[in-house]
Amino acid sequence: MARVAFIGLGNMGGGMAANLVKAGFEVNAFDLAPAALQGAVAAGCTASTSACEAVKDVDYVVSMLPDGAIVENIYIDNDKLLDAMPGTALVMDCSTIAARNSQRLALEADQRGIQCIDAPVSGGIAAAADGTLAFMCGGSQEAFEAARPVLSAMGKNLFLAGESGAGQVAKMCNNMLLAVHMIGTAEALQLGVDNGLDPAVLSEIMLNSSGSNWSLEKYNPYPGVMDNVPAARNYEGGFMNMLMLKDLGLALDAATSSKSSVPMGSLARNLYALHTGKGNELRDFSSIIEQFKKSG
Ligand code: NAD
Repeated sequence: MARVAFIGLGNMGGGMAANLVKAGFEVNAFDLAPAALQGAVAAGCTASTSACEAVKDVDYVVSMLPDGAIVENIYIDNDKLLDAMPGTALVMDCSTIAARNSQRLALEADQRGIQCIDAPVSGGIAAAADGTLAFMCGGSQEAFEAARPVLSAMGKNLFLAGESGAGQVAKMCNNMLLAVHMIGTAEALQLGVDNGLDPAVLSEIMLNSSGSNWSLEKYNPYPGVMDNVPAARNYEGGFMNMLMLKDLGLALDAATSSKSSVPMGSLARNLYALHTGKGNELRDFSSIIEQFKKSG
């Protein structure tokens, strides 16, 4: 059976690596955090003592890391994984990072004859555990097809957005829109409540009217309206505000460089910066509704 090296077994990577094991891949796991590594071993992965050891003699390398500097360091500048893996390996970096980080990684890989795609995901921790992520990929058609067996074991929708970096562009556009409709949904619900409406009744009306959107349908931010969403558990265990703020920063950086006007994305970034800075880093992004609640 094909062998995969999996680097970065945190909230997302832990579930993804476990699904590779379930699909029959042999998985070499490495994470700097001992607890994350132990979780992967419990799921059937083999622990490696370093990232370089993990990628020896593998067919595929998958990474799920916090940011672009770490991705560049691990593959190119510090750990030099591109020099430690076989030239036949295929790299799938699933981290959400800037398109320019993904493009540098792809270029360096190409110089060594190694195929590489950026494959950021949508879906969150539950989808990572359930194997229902969406992958938005950037790279050649050939590399995308070669990655399909591995990505299919971790997700249900695979998209090729274009050349290297295109997956990251699709991801940042999607998350900017997500932030905007979550904020819009939150302020509309709070406005209704402030004017005497029951948030569940208002949600039902808007869901069946022109205000319907994903945040309202799947991720209602008002506590007590839906079960099994972060609003039902004090916004624990979801998509952290600090990660949404990171993604909005990537979108605004890209907009600056392409001279694109993103007034709603810009406002969304500022609102998430304000909210995150009030001690909400680790709470779910739907907690933004608290910014619209009147105090007292
Ligand atoms: P996380 O912090 O839980 O996991 C990252 C892991 O990487 C940690 O276990 C950390 O120890 C490890 N790590 C950091 N540097 C390392 C190194 N040099 N070598 C080996 N391991 C290292 O974060 P997460 O929530 O799993 O997110 C990972 C990526 O997925 C991020 O880019 C994030 O933006 C993206 N993402 C997250 C979600 C979500 O809902 N959490 C959804 C979509 C995308």
